[in-house]
Amino acid sequence: MSTLRGTPHPYGICVEPSNVKAGGHGCPFRFRCVGCDHFRTDPSYLPVLRAYLDTLLRDCEHLAAATELDDWARTEATHSEAEIKRIRTLIRRVETDLNGLTDDEREQIKEATRTLRKTRTVSLGMSDVRPPEADLRLERDT
Ligand code: SF4
Repeated sequence: MSTLRGTPHPYGICVEPSNVKAGGHGCPFRFRCVGCDHFRTDPSYLPVLRAYLDTLLRDCEHLAAATELDDWARTEATHSEAEIKRIRTLIRRVETDLNGLTDDEREQIKEATRTLRKTRTVSLGMSDVRPPEADLRLERDT
């Protein structure tokens, strides 16, 4: 059973102590959650993570096609490749965790996820997924 406690985030939780203490209003990193070691997610967030990835990709297409923006504005408004890659990786890792379960376990997770999405107060009991560490170091070196 997961023992992690944190403050809710749309697609996971934040366990950064000062932000948790501030009820989610004290992020020291401008809410760059998928690139932050304090972010955790689990299979119950998979639909939201997928929807978020779709939104980022749609935004990028829309921005690329927009003719009314200066280059600097387009660049600043465009989501980074690193963020998109990080979300894809998180989704893949959660899906990999799910694929390692039996059909019964997957069904239990599905049922728990339905409940969690209504209440967001219960842990699934699976290990939480953190952002990929190797990518974090690579990104910060550039
Ligand atoms: S960026 Fe990190 S510290 Fe800030 S809310 Fe997200 S997970 Fe928490």
